[in-house]
Amino acid sequence: MATNAANWNPGKITDKYPGVPYEEKLRLFAEVKADARYEDYLYGCYECGICVSACPSARFYDYSPRVIAQTMAREDVNRMYEILVEDIWNCAQCFSCVRCPRQNSPGGLVTLIREIAVRNGIKETRDVLQGYSRVIYKVMLKGNQVSPDMLQPDFFPDWGPWVRSFQGNMNLWRQAIPVDSLRGVTDAAWKTDDQTLRELYTIWFETGNIDLIAEIDEGLYELLLDVMEEALEDWA
Ligand code: SF4
Ligand code: SF4
Repeated sequence: MATNAANWNPGKITDKYPGVPYEEKLRLFAEVKADARYEDYLYGCYECGICVSACPSARFYDYSPRVIAQTMAREDVNRMYEILVEDIWNCAQCFSCVRCPRQNSPGGLVTLIREIAVRNGIKETRDVLQGYSRVIYKVMLKGNQVSPDMLQPDFFPDWGPWVRSFQGNMNLWRQAIPVDSLRGVTDAAWKTDDQTLRELYTIWFETGNIDLIAEIDEGLYELLLDVMEEALEDWA
C-alpha cells in the first residue's frame, strides 16, 4: 500500500471524534493491522460495490462493506475509529461479502475491529453489548443459544416493537423447540452434556475469551468465572 498510517493524517480534514487523540486512534488502527489474519482479509479495493450488493446489512442500515475495505486500504485512521464506534455491530457476520473479486473479506475486517474494540473496552462497544449480556451468559455457560423465555423487551431493546410480538406469541415459538423445554420457564433450548461443557469452558479460558468479557462487563465476568471454575474443579 502506498500510504502509511504513521505519517498520513487525513483526520485533520475530517475528524468526527476530535476529542479522542489521534495517537490513540492510530494505536487501535495498528492493533487491527497487527492481527495475523489482516493480510488475508485485505488486498486493496476496486470500489466495484459487489460486496455492497451482497451485504444484507447494507440494505437495512447506513452501512457499507465497501467503506470498510476502502478505509482500511487507504489507512484512514480517523475513519476507522468512526467505523469502530458506529458501524461494526451493524455487520451480520454472514460473509456474503467474500464474493469480492479482489478476495477481500470486509466481514473479516469487521471481526478484527470488533475484537480490538472489545479488548480495549471501548465505551460504545460496552454499551452495545450490555443488552446482550444474558445471551453471552447463556452461550458461554450453557453452551446454548437463546431460549424462548429470554425473548423479552428488556433483553433486546434494539429489536423495537418486534420483540413484544415474540413475547406475546411465546407458546407458538415454543412449538419449534424440543418437548423437554416446553415445561415451565426454559433454562436452555437444549441440554448440553457435561463433557461438552468442560471442553467449552476450557476453550473460553485457553483462547482468552473469558478475559474479553472482563473488558465489557465486569459483573458478568465474575459470575462466569465463579461458575466455570467451580464446575471445572468438580469435574477434575
Ligand atoms: S471490497 Fe471488494 S467487492 Fe467491495 S468494493 Fe472493494 S473490491 Fe469491490
Ligand atoms: S459479513 Fe458483514 S459486511 Fe459482509 S456481507 Fe455479511 S453483513 Fe455485510
